[in-house]
Amino acid sequence: MQADIEMVKALLDGGRKVVVLTGAGVSAESGVPTFRGNDGLWKSHRPEDLARPDAFAMNPELVWEFYNWRRELIGKCEPNPAHQALAEMERHIPNFLLITQNVDGLHAQAGSRKLIEMHGSLWQVRCTSCSHSREDRAELPAMPECPDCGHLLRPGVVWFGEPLIPGVLKVAIAQISSAEVFISVGTSNMVQPAASFYQLAKDHGAVTVEVNLEPTSNTGFMDFALHGKAGDILPELVTGLSK
Ligand code: NAD
Ligand code: ZN
Repeated sequence: MQADIEMVKALLDGGRKVVVLTGAGVSAESGVPTFRGNDGLWKSHRPEDLARPDAFAMNPELVWEFYNWRRELIGKCEPNPAHQALAEMERHIPNFLLITQNVDGLHAQAGSRKLIEMHGSLWQVRCTSCSHSREDRAELPAMPECPDCGHLLRPGVVWFGEPLIPGVLKVAIAQISSAEVFISVGTSNMVQPAASFYQLAKDHGAVTVEVNLEPTSNTGFMDFALHGKAGDILPELVTGLSK
């Protein structure tokens, strides 16, 4: 794997446009549970069964209980060396974009600025009825209400089965289509459309790299597959980058 790491480093040092896609695995070493690991269940519910609009419509109290638990847990988590390495990568590579599926806010906390949070943020809440939307890190009531209209608030995240925030997909597609190096980190590639981004990058001539704890369904299609902890591999990739 060392030879592959050196080759990827050379690509990153060559002034190329780099787009990185991250998933839950990049935050695992910060103590944020992924959805598909052994630690994935919450009170015997699968997160995928709660992070969806029909679950919220049927039992908003349960879904808010899950989100308030996640906000409390993740509020105590800190960025790890993988987040820090990506913030560092941005400082070395002029043409760089980080697209994350994560809603934990840890990339921004680590200093990433050229960042798209394509599934929104746990720290954003919005009204189910009017246009009220705000960033809020404080503890919320069990059923938080909109200060403007009194209707129920909801987490400002994109749930399974919901469309992405308008405009986000368009920007992501345009950026990925012009990437020369595409790196996916810590994603099981089971959630669309992100799971297909590598294909888009490849179709437009990018070199594709996977960094993940274990092989995924996309591994065989990648030019480089670096398997191990993101918190070990990403710092290696940025060590010694010029500028
Ligand atoms: P996932 O849980 O489906 O997959 C995580 C992947 O990361 C797995 O393939 C696993 O092998 C790998 N992984 C685990 N630990 C790792 C490590 N230390 N280093 C490198 N790789 C590691 O996550 P996903 O593909 O992002 O899809 C889940 C969806 O749920 C996403 O859409 C995301 O929005 C959401 N989600 C977000 C968070 C978060 O914000 N941190 C957490 C859970 C789920
Ligand atoms: Zn409202």
